[in-house]
Amino acid sequence: MPGFKGLAVPGPTNMPFEVRQAMDVALEDHRAPDFPDFIIPLMNDVKKVFKTTTGEVFIFPGSGTGGWESAIANLMSPGEKVLTSVFGQFSHLWADLCERFGLEVDAIQCEWGTGVPLERYEQSLAADKDHKIKAVLVCQNETATGVTSDVAGVRRILDGLDHPALLLVDGVSSIGSIDFRMDEWGVDVAVSGSQKGFMLPTGLAIVAVSQKALQAKKDSTLPVCFFDYDDMQKNNAMGYFPYTPAVTLLRGLRASLDLIDSEGLESVFARHNHLAGGVRAAVDAWGLRNCAQAPKWHSDTVTAILVPEGFDANDVIKTAYCKYDLSLGAGLSKVAGKVFRIGHLGWLNEIMVLQALGGVELAMRDVGIPFEPGAGVGAAVRHFSNTAEEMRIAAE
Ligand SMILES: *Cc1c(COP(=O)(O)O)cnc(C)c1O
Repeated sequence: MPGFKGLAVPGPTNMPFEVRQAMDVALEDHRAPDFPDFIIPLMNDVKKVFKTTTGEVFIFPGSGTGGWESAIANLMSPGEKVLTSVFGQFSHLWADLCERFGLEVDAIQCEWGTGVPLERYEQSLAADKDHKIKAVLVCQNETATGVTSDVAGVRRILDGLDHPALLLVDGVSSIGSIDFRMDEWGVDVAVSGSQKGFMLPTGLAIVAVSQKALQAKKDSTLPVCFFDYDDMQKNNAMGYFPYTPAVTLLRGLRASLDLIDSEGLESVFARHNHLAGGVRAAVDAWGLRNCAQAPKWHSDTVTAILVPEGFDANDVIKTAYCKYDLSLGAGLSKVAGKVFRIGHLGWLNEIMVLQALGGVELAMRDVGIPFEPGAGVGAAVRHFSNTAEEMRIAAE
C-alpha cells in the first residue's frame, strides 16, 4: 500500500530527518588534522546523556551486543564470578555471553515480566564474604518483556554491604530515553547502541566506563583487541581512534545529540513517560494484560502485550505487517506467540503512537481478538489530552 510504513518495534527506531541529512555527506578523512575538533566535543556530549563527568565514553563500530562483550573482555578474567538475573531474552543473552567467555555465572532465574530481584541480589552479595563476585550485571530495561529495573537499588545494596563488585548495566533500550545516572548510581560500565534511544541506524556500540573499571582492567586476563578500552582511550584523548571509526554514523550521532540537547534530556524522559502512558491506557482499554507484572516494572520505552489464551501473537504481528505495513515487535524465546511488543522510544510523538495503536486494533480485529474497536485509541487520546499539559509544565 502507498504511504509510510509504520515502525513500532523497540529498535531500530524512527530516524529524525535531521539525523538522515547529517549523514548524507561525503566520506571523510579520519586522520585529518581537524578531525579532533569534531570528535572531542562529540565525546563530551555523549557523556551528558550518560550523566557522567568522571567516566570515559567509548564508541565502537558494532551493536549493543558488542558493548556487552567489551565490558566482559576488558574487565574480567577466566573463571571469575558474575552475579546476574534472567527475566527476558536480553538479560539471558548477556548471561550467555559471560558463559561463553568462561566466567562463572550465577544467573538468578526470575519470572519473565518481573525485573532485577533486589532481595536476591542482596542475599547473594551478603553471602559472598570473600568478595568472589567480581561484577554484578543489571539489565536496566528488558526489551523482550517491557520491564524496567531499579539500578540505583542495586547500587544501594552494594554500598550497604561495602561490596567492591563492579556494576555493569545494559542500557541499550533505556539510555537517552529513560532516567539513567552513571555517576550518581556508581555504574562502572553502561552499554548502549545507536539504533534505539539515539535514533540512528544500527552500527555503533556506545559505552561509558568508570575510572574504577579502567583500574580493574589492569588485572583482567581475558584477551581483548577490537574492543580494547586502553587503545580507545589513548587515541580518543587526541581526538582519534585506533582503527577506522564509523564517521558517517558519528555525524548522525552529532545531529542526534543536538536534538536531545535542544529538547532537553529531562523533557525527553517526560515525553517517553507520556507516550508510554498512552500505550498502557490502550492495553487496559482493550482488556489485555501488560507482560510487565506490576507498575514498578512498566517500561517507558517498550510495552509487551499478552494476547488472550487461544490466540497467537504472531498472527497479530504478521497481519499488522502484511496488511497494514506496521512493524510490531515479536515475542522472543519463552514469550514467542504470547506477546507482541510496541516500541515507543526515540523520535516519536502522540500521533505516531496513535497510528501504531490504530494499526494494532485493525490487526487484532482481523485475527478475531475480542475488544471494542477504538477503545485503545480512545483511551490513549484521553490519556494524552489529560497529561499533555502536565508534561509541558514539567518541561519548563
Ligand atoms: C537491543 C538490545 C540489545 C542488543 O543490542 P544489539 O544492538 O541488537 O546488539 C541488548 N540489550 C537490550 C536491552 C536491547 O534492547
